[in-house]
Amino acid sequence: MSDSVYIIKSQEIFDAIVVGSGITGGWAAKELTEQGLKTLMVERGRPVEHRKDYIGEGVKSWEMPFRGAIEKNVADEQYAVQKQNYAFSDATKHFYGNDRDYPYSTPEGKPFSWIRGNQLGGKSLLWHRQSYRWSDLDFAANAKDGHGVDWPIRYGDLTDWYDHVETHAGISGSVENMPVLPDSKFLPPFEFNNVEKVIKQQLEAKYSDRKLIMGRCAHLSQPAPHHVEQGRVQCMARNECQKGCSFGAYFSTQSSTLPAAAKTGNLSIATNSIVHSVIYDPKTRRASGVRVIDSETMEVREYFAKIIFLCASTLGTTQIMLNSVSEQFPTGIANSSGVLGHYLMDHLYGAGASGIVPGHLEEYYSGRRPTGLYVPRFRNVSKQDAPFVRGYAYQASAQREHWSSFANKDGFGADFKHAIRNAGNWSFGLNGSGEMLPDFDNKVTLHPTLKDKWGMPQLLIDCTFSDNDLKMQKDIAETAGEMLEAIGLKNVKTHDRKWPPGLSIHEMGTARMGKDPKTSILNGYNQAHDVPNLFVTDGACMTSSAWQNPSLTYMALTARACRYAVEQLRQGKL
Ligand SMILES: Cc1cc2nc3c(=O)[nH]c(=O)nc-3n(C[C@H](O)[C@H](O)[C@H](O)COP(=O)(O)OP(=O)(O)OC[C@H]3O[C@@H](n4cnc5c(N)ncnc54)[C@H](O)[C@@H]3O)c2cc1C
Ligand code: SF4
Repeated sequence: MSDSVYIIKSQEIFDAIVVGSGITGGWAAKELTEQGLKTLMVERGRPVEHRKDYIGEGVKSWEMPFRGAIEKNVADEQYAVQKQNYAFSDATKHFYGNDRDYPYSTPEGKPFSWIRGNQLGGKSLLWHRQSYRWSDLDFAANAKDGHGVDWPIRYGDLTDWYDHVETHAGISGSVENMPVLPDSKFLPPFEFNNVEKVIKQQLEAKYSDRKLIMGRCAHLSQPAPHHVEQGRVQCMARNECQKGCSFGAYFSTQSSTLPAAAKTGNLSIATNSIVHSVIYDPKTRRASGVRVIDSETMEVREYFAKIIFLCASTLGTTQIMLNSVSEQFPTGIANSSGVLGHYLMDHLYGAGASGIVPGHLEEYYSGRRPTGLYVPRFRNVSKQDAPFVRGYAYQASAQREHWSSFANKDGFGADFKHAIRNAGNWSFGLNGSGEMLPDFDNKVTLHPTLKDKWGMPQLLIDCTFSDNDLKMQKDIAETAGEMLEAIGLKNVKTHDRKWPPGLSIHEMGTARMGKDPKTSILNGYNQAHDVPNLFVTDGACMTSSAWQNPSLTYMALTARACRYAVEQLRQGKL
């Protein structure tokens, strides 16, 4: 991307400011610039150039000082939270926020793991690319069981927008015709290995309400011409994605939305610019811009625009909103309802089961695959069949154990060496991802005294699982164990790793959408009820959490909100 898009100071009144450059900020910038709006993207982190700055890409673990692991004292001192994430390594650590610089607090005994990617591209560089639509089962859930307020939209409001973002991003998957998990606009799915095919057959024969399908992911399994135009090529299934992919074969801001936005000539970017607050003009009752702290010089700057999109990630956005106080909004911008910061959710994560698949020792596979398998939700679908509300999915995969499984086994000499060269048993595992209920008491506030090194008030995150969540988590582990036993796996073990909220990295809520301005922050177009030219389209807007990985839904909501904002602007309503 040309250096000329980067700016520091500007007197210009932009048509739009987009705060954040991750999955949702990238989409907002693309949609708004393509509609002709002069748009400034404001990002707190450093610039990351596609290809050039993927410094971990192609580096082999044996070329790194600790075989890819990060030095223990560095991990403990600087990445105490980030190191809990499975993708954190020496080859990826530069895409994670350094916890020393981004402190936050939690009450005693209530941990919350806040995983962050604070650079141009945000967590779009790090994500696992699992991409699933929601259905009406999800959008109607709050209205049905009374937890949380009703969503102001239904699946039908988003279908065209799912189509739109999927076509551009490229989603690989299989058509399944399941009402609970609507099909996307798919590129071809990745392939099952032979043992997974057998397990699929056995599971689906045993359970008429369950399917084992290929994971849907934002990878170019077969690029269309418009992907090639974006400078992207076919996925080589290296599964090295979190180091950055020079092929642009997985969807990220850098590979997909930023080039599209830059191509319009309407994009400017301010990096190293921490948005401190949104500036509110009481005369017009509109947001007029953002106040920014330069992360390198500490200089304070202001940028102005006709509309503002907050896409700084769920908690990043809410931190900015809570910090945007004025006479009209003493507890945070657009917070006349008092619910800003409340109803924080994540997904239930860390429970499941695994076992050994007997036989198949003549079967092997070569190469890698950048996605696993998926068992979509089957609990509480057509009837209430569990002692909790809502439901969960499983992610799954079968693989052969390899030489490292010999690490703790005794032996010596030629026989041992020979045994190490052979692959071990086949194992298969199911790991749940469950819906967490919206709860007023799960909240973020600004810490009354603590600030970060740039002077931003720290977040105080107070979040814990409810009884319903814990019952579901128990069922996730037990049912996984039963399913694996039922299809004849051996040595089946269930697990519940008791991971804290946040670690699923699907944090959602805190500036929710709703029909009623008295109980929600945003309307059905992600527009603040109180401040019509302010839009929030990242996970903060979510009214419930469902059980699917959420980013595809954030993308669709963002694209839809952008089109609405542009129409409103053209009609002179903003
Ligand atoms: C390892 C990993 C695996 C994941 N796997 C999946 C998956 O398979 N499927 C899925 O759906 N989701 C997945 N996620 C979650 C996914 O990455 C997030 O849902 C998504 O990135 C959220 O997009 P966003 O735009 O809201 O935030 P981000 O992508 O985090 O971007 C936010 C941006 O805002 C910037 N920002 C924050 N505060 C400020 C400020 N004050 N001023 C200026 N800029 C600011 C940040 O620096 C960042 O660049 C995964 C995440 C990780 C880390
Ligand atoms: S698996 Fe595909 S997207 Fe991931 S690094 Fe390899 S080529 Fe890139």
